[in-house]
Amino acid sequence: MEFETKCLHAGYQPENGGPRVLPIVQSTTYAYESTDEIGKLFDLEAAGYFYTRLANPTTGAVEEKIAALEGGVGALCTSSGQAATFYAVLNILEAGDHLISSSYIYGGTYNLFAHTFRKMGIEVTFVDQDASQEEILQAVKPNTKAIFGETIANPAVKVLDIEKFSAVAKELDIPFIIDNTFATPYFCRPIEFGADIVIHSTTKYLDGHAVQTGGVIVDGGTFDWNNGKFPQLSEPDETYHGIVYTEKFGQAAYITKARVQLMRDLGATPSPQNSFLLNLGMETLPVRMDRHYQNALTVAKFLTEQKAIKHVYYPGLESDDNYALAQKYVPNGLCGVISVEFAEGKETAAKWLDALELVSLEVHVADIRTCALHPATSTHRQLTDEELHQAGISPGLVRLSCGIENVTDILADLQQAFDKLEG
Ligand SMILES: *Cc1c(COP(=O)(O)O)cnc(C)c1O
Repeated sequence: MEFETKCLHAGYQPENGGPRVLPIVQSTTYAYESTDEIGKLFDLEAAGYFYTRLANPTTGAVEEKIAALEGGVGALCTSSGQAATFYAVLNILEAGDHLISSSYIYGGTYNLFAHTFRKMGIEVTFVDQDASQEEILQAVKPNTKAIFGETIANPAVKVLDIEKFSAVAKELDIPFIIDNTFATPYFCRPIEFGADIVIHSTTKYLDGHAVQTGGVIVDGGTFDWNNGKFPQLSEPDETYHGIVYTEKFGQAAYITKARVQLMRDLGATPSPQNSFLLNLGMETLPVRMDRHYQNALTVAKFLTEQKAIKHVYYPGLESDDNYALAQKYVPNGLCGVISVEFAEGKETAAKWLDALELVSLEVHVADIRTCALHPATSTHRQLTDEELHQAGISPGLVRLSCGIENVTDILADLQQAFDKLEG
């Protein structure tokens, strides 16, 4: 099946006479006829549903669809993108381990890595994503267990050199985890460029309509965990009578462990209702993304012509520093998100934002409706000036998320707000 077809048909095929649309199985539990059958499920000897915290048919269909879209061997949905990032790392790192992350990442991920992980004994070193392979290698420690980055960074809108990061990971024999939220698998499938684990905040483009929060972890099945560095996967798990994930689940060892151990113990499971909404959104992902991209490119060009704007960050523009990287990794299109730097900083940015009418101010991106946000006073509010700088955010930076309205209306609204700055 081609990508567009998978968006509609992967993960669920109706039985004869069954519902055409993926049904919502709003049930916490599943009935069985014998204790023996339930015992086998608990021992991971048989596949089947037994409790919705671990698996649910609606959520399961969505997981299968996303795994198909990213080209992975399996997926696990979570109740938010934050939970997906947390589990993706915690599944293989523990107290005493070290992670290398690109510094151009989502603010919530930064807080998780820099503060919460530190409290848990996991240390994170941030590297500039423009650093050379040699410079990234300088951040490596004997206990470095994974590398992390974002395909298109939120909100810096910078494109990651995926092959450079995956080359470092391969040299160290550790996995490369990538957050593909902004690119979506429609524009980029990082596993094809050497990533091992892909995560998403499905709250963003995969849903696209701003109706549910969710996350997902996709296992590429590409990493060999039997190299002595990941005993959690290659040595017996006493909580399952000593099963060894790599032996029993092969290529799907990582994602199986995330489900049966982390989801069992930590429980950030999505509701079946939300999985249904997410699936509905994904059915139209390709048509939405094409329009997000066309609108954003038009808006980005318009913004470069404005006196009040010092810089437009949109790698679809030939003038952008990341244009060449975008041509390589996301040649068919980009996210609808643009970052702009106001020449006169914070106050002008705020005045312009307050003048917008059609475009709403909201703490969200990747919605079908155009929205805008000022990271320095919202999502990245907790960061110090130094941390903001490292994350590529300045006080006058505005994040504009282009929706799928007729672009004439978006441009008219932006123009009238610029006119008010003059007045
Ligand atoms: C929003 C976002 C997250 C966090 O996802 P939530 O669903 O809000 O928890 C993680 N990464 C990126 C790139 C995001 O945009």
